[in-house]
Amino acid sequence: MTGSAILALYLALFALQRVVETGLGILNLRHGHAQSAPPPALAGAVDGATHARMRDYSQARGRFALLADSVSAAAVLAVVLSGVLGTTDAAVGRLALHPYLAGGLYVLAVGAFFTVLGIPASLYSQFVIEQRFGFNRTTLRLFLLDRLKGGLISLILGAVVLLVLFAFMDRAGSLWWLYAGGVIIAFQVVLLMLYPTVIAPLFNRFVPVGEGEVRARLAALARRLGYRLRGIFVMDGSKRSRHSNAYFTGLGPVKRIVLFDTLLDQLDAGEIEAVVAHEIGHERLRHIPQRLALSVAATVAGLGILSLLLDYAPLFAAFGIREPSHHAALVLFSLLAGPFTFWLGPLSALWSRRHEYAADRFAAAVVASPRPLAGALIKLSRDNLANLSPHPWYSFYHYSHPTLVERLQALRA
Ligand SMILES: [Zn+2]
Repeated sequence: MTGSAILALYLALFALQRVVETGLGILNLRHGHAQSAPPPALAGAVDGATHARMRDYSQARGRFALLADSVSAAAVLAVVLSGVLGTTDAAVGRLALHPYLAGGLYVLAVGAFFTVLGIPASLYSQFVIEQRFGFNRTTLRLFLLDRLKGGLISLILGAVVLLVLFAFMDRAGSLWWLYAGGVIIAFQVVLLMLYPTVIAPLFNRFVPVGEGEVRARLAALARRLGYRLRGIFVMDGSKRSRHSNAYFTGLGPVKRIVLFDTLLDQLDAGEIEAVVAHEIGHERLRHIPQRLALSVAATVAGLGILSLLLDYAPLFAAFGIREPSHHAALVLFSLLAGPFTFWLGPLSALWSRRHEYAADRFAAAVVASPRPLAGALIKLSRDNLANLSPHPWYSFYHYSHPTLVERLQALRA
């Protein structure tokens, strides 16, 4: 393939992705705009005023996402087409540093550019949209502190991954991608185990569920299922947002169920029990190891493809990089991958929704009734102003969780 053929293929796929993504976004906005009342299945649970707020919030977020996505897509296109990747590479090369250090600096420069570019959108989303609908509780100071901490963590983890990649590319022969993949996966597993106890506490406080009815019910549930009550935590989510949530995280001995303090305020004891049962369902049904297996396959496949492109000069030339190098290959690969991997998104979302249905069934069976979970899901959707009626194509493509109506239908069946 010549340089211009590579460029044409990339641009065609890029355009197709933009058309599909923007088209889905617009369809979803128009579909949502046309809903003047809650879906019939929720007629008794959501009043008109609340429904109007839910719709306005979805519209505001949807419109802004369309704009922000277009801006970041345009930025990627500008960077890969303008030749700036080549001039930056040449400039870093003139510093005459150790190749790994130069490579790291190059990756850092490109990464920092896109990180900084994304900040205005985060600011607007948090301090304008979230603020307008009464969700924001983040101060500007906390916002900046979060970015700083997140940036430092990415810097450290990124440096480790880069070092592993550079070393294996240099010294491990033609199967470097397999060995490097193995090391990166081991690193991912370690991270997954460290996340709950080392990384998450840098951002939030985690405490055991306080004494009272909720704790008593969760203790009984945990005893019945052989789950450790000590693995259930309350997080101070209210320090950033009024949104509420619960999640399951960790691997092996470090597993945690995390309940936002906002969730404890919104739900009654029976509903909280059902939500925890749902999260224990994710653990019992081994959903995290399954997702990890998918990420392992994706990592190895991605590195395998990267290894094929590593010495392919026309690819570099097509994007203005005169001198093929390992670091330029990494950057090009990550900037160009989007239009190729975009089409796999729905498969991952579909799989995730199946896991949600399975965890819902588990919870309903464990608390011997679908009612508490149904009640919890309705309250959570209402308080978080969830989109009750996304366009079916949009939710099929993007939603990691089934819609509220779909989950309620499945629970009743
Ligand atoms: Zn879930």
